[in-house]
Amino acid sequence: MFEKADVVQLEKFNGGDSLVVSLFLNVSPQERKRSTYLSKFKNLVKSQPEDKMSLVKEDIEKIEKFLQSERESFKKSIVLYSCTKKDLWQRYDLNMELNDLMVIDKTPYTSPLVDLLDNYQKYGVLLVDKRTARVFLVFLGDIEEYGIIHHEDVPGKHKKGGWFALAEKRYERHIEHHVKMHLKDVIDKLDDFLKIKEIKKLIVTGPDEAIHELMKMLPENIKGKIVGRAFMEKYASTEDILERIMPVIQEYEQMKKSKTLEELITRSRKNDNAVLGVDDVIKYLRNRRVMKVVIPKDFELEGSVCEGCGFSSSQKLEKCIECGASMVRVNNLLERVTEMAIESGAIVEVLKEDKDRNLLIENGVVGAFLKF
Ligand SMILES: [Zn+2]
Repeated sequence: MFEKADVVQLEKFNGGDSLVVSLFLNVSPQERKRSTYLSKFKNLVKSQPEDKMSLVKEDIEKIEKFLQSERESFKKSIVLYSCTKKDLWQRYDLNMELNDLMVIDKTPYTSPLVDLLDNYQKYGVLLVDKRTARVFLVFLGDIEEYGIIHHEDVPGKHKKGGWFALAEKRYERHIEHHVKMHLKDVIDKLDDFLKIKEIKKLIVTGPDEAIHELMKMLPENIKGKIVGRAFMEKYASTEDILERIMPVIQEYEQMKKSKTLEELITRSRKNDNAVLGVDDVIKYLRNRRVMKVVIPKDFELEGSVCEGCGFSSSQKLEKCIECGASMVRVNNLLERVTEMAIESGAIVEVLKEDKDRNLLIENGVVGAFLKF
């Protein structure tokens, strides 16, 4: 699974004067069906400056061969870094879509990966019962089993009858004691896992009884990370677990987005470091004062973009008010807003759900939280 340490490693790469090809390509099953992804790759190659291209011929050939021969192993998108002259060949398979992009430069181009790390949460999943526990990491649409805990020494349910009432009580206490020891061990290991992997969100699953016991023992700092519950078979496959967990995560993230929008509207009304409306957002983006931009998914907005300095506006302008160059009409002003946000290091939050999307469109189409 792709992680922060990978980006750190890539950023350490020193190719001297050699150029690195960085490729981000959507290779989802639809793209593979008609080999659309290959023609998109070729177009990306064509759009590169010729002087650079002549220096990375070997890399481009290697990548093209790879894209043709390895297609069966692809997930939704692929990230490749290649510098044959310095033996760099790094591949990441992601289970989510990325924007297609090719960059040829002296260093690996990592911003799209850094954005993923900034914008997506890691989720821990604990599947626990009275004698076992399994721990998983869910990130960027993928799941990884981190570890399993099994306590053989927890005695099973005793046979009915054959025990005196007193002995039975003692026996139950004995079981309870073992369950508590087991859960205590689970909590210790879970705590380590959450710390090592820097996980802030946790989903807990298992039989009610075990969860009930666990909740009594969980320290507050871990309890505060729980964002959802799900039901799961003890020995479910990782694929099945992912399938059950994703809706819980989506519901949580949806709820968070609605809250973000609510906060955006309330704070912008109070002039509390938030604005609504495309021209205001653009103004603050140009001043690099934006922390997070909130935009509706797939919304066409007309506007003008300066061919000289890139100044953009929702107004119908002939000449740029910043540099005097001529402005062109566009119907995808929000793409321009997204680009500006990414360039300035702001987070981009896209609202997909109809209810939130419509509410944002009614309130100025786009909004931003500003730096304090
Ligand atoms: Zn201009």
